[in-house]
Amino acid sequence: MLVVMSHNATKADIERVCDTIRSMGYSAAPMPGKQRTTVGLIGNDGAVDESLVADLPGVAQVIHVSNPYKQVSREWKPENTVVSIAPGVNFGGEEIPVIAGPCSVESERQIVESARAVRAAGAVALRGGAYKPRSSPYSFQGLGKKGLEFLATAKRETGLAIVTEAMDDEGAHQVAEVADCIQIGARNMQNYSLLKTVGRIGKPVLLKRGMAATIQDLLLSAEYVLSEGNPHVILCERGLRSFDSTARNLFDLTAIPIVHQLSHLPIIADPSHGTGRRDKILPMSRAAIAAGADGVIIEVHPQPEKALSDGAQSLNPEQFAELMKALRRVAEAVDRQMAGAGAEVT
Ligand code: PEP
Ligand code: MN
Repeated sequence: MLVVMSHNATKADIERVCDTIRSMGYSAAPMPGKQRTTVGLIGNDGAVDESLVADLPGVAQVIHVSNPYKQVSREWKPENTVVSIAPGVNFGGEEIPVIAGPCSVESERQIVESARAVRAAGAVALRGGAYKPRSSPYSFQGLGKKGLEFLATAKRETGLAIVTEAMDDEGAHQVAEVADCIQIGARNMQNYSLLKTVGRIGKPVLLKRGMAATIQDLLLSAEYVLSEGNPHVILCERGLRSFDSTARNLFDLTAIPIVHQLSHLPIIADPSHGTGRRDKILPMSRAAIAAGADGVIIEVHPQPEKALSDGAQSLNPEQFAELMKALRRVAEAVDRQMAGAGAEVT
């Protein structure tokens, strides 16, 4: 439930509404806006009796949030949320940042070389998993702590923001020491204990859609993070399992305008996992930007044929530089611009 205060409501009126909500056994979240303050009621699972607050002084309107997710919904917050993961790296604004790098951190040399290459082409954040959720326990599982150290080196060398995955509660704290944004992978989208942990850590979170998750499931998972007091969530469409094996996944670009309608959170696209095929990354990145994506995350490897994971969907640095040029044109066509346009080399 949302209690919209009138524009001339006093501080005492707002405090009285908050106290009343608390006395009903819920939490109150006052959200000052440009024109008026709105007080959100948090903690209900079902209808709330509005009669105790509706007639309090200064209350203009009571809105019942119809969706099961509350704080992530547009009803709760009409204006877009901009999530900043590092100075100048903002998701959800006019600029479109690109996160790029290998699927996995494989060595110091590989990650630093990748970082230099993607930065030169205009990426503003570096991706790379130190902890890898692999379908097979016999596949490369990532370098763990060593991988995080190599990411820290790559950050020192290039200044790029770091986006890397956490797979469990303990790992999340380690990842948080190095990452500017903690990635929660598709396989962990409904790991509620991990979602609460990253909610409490408070760092920006990149939440990837599960491969069989509905958009409502995705938004409810984001709600877990927000409900712990962390509003810095970037959603990510990364493709769904389908019956068709011609691509790795079914890349659901419709999710982008749908999420924009339902939620104020930014949503980015991952055409690398979305398609699984190197030659499909360019057209689907363009399509994602045209559909309104607030960023893209792309797998780039200095030598894709030697990659320890996801080589088939990784671009080499030259292909990535070409992609960045193409994306600048598409962004312009939809009245936006790519972040980091001042890349040194193109
Ligand atoms: C990844 O980003 O390398 C990854 C494992 O992605 P997803 O969780 O979307 O499969
Ligand atoms: Mn990958």
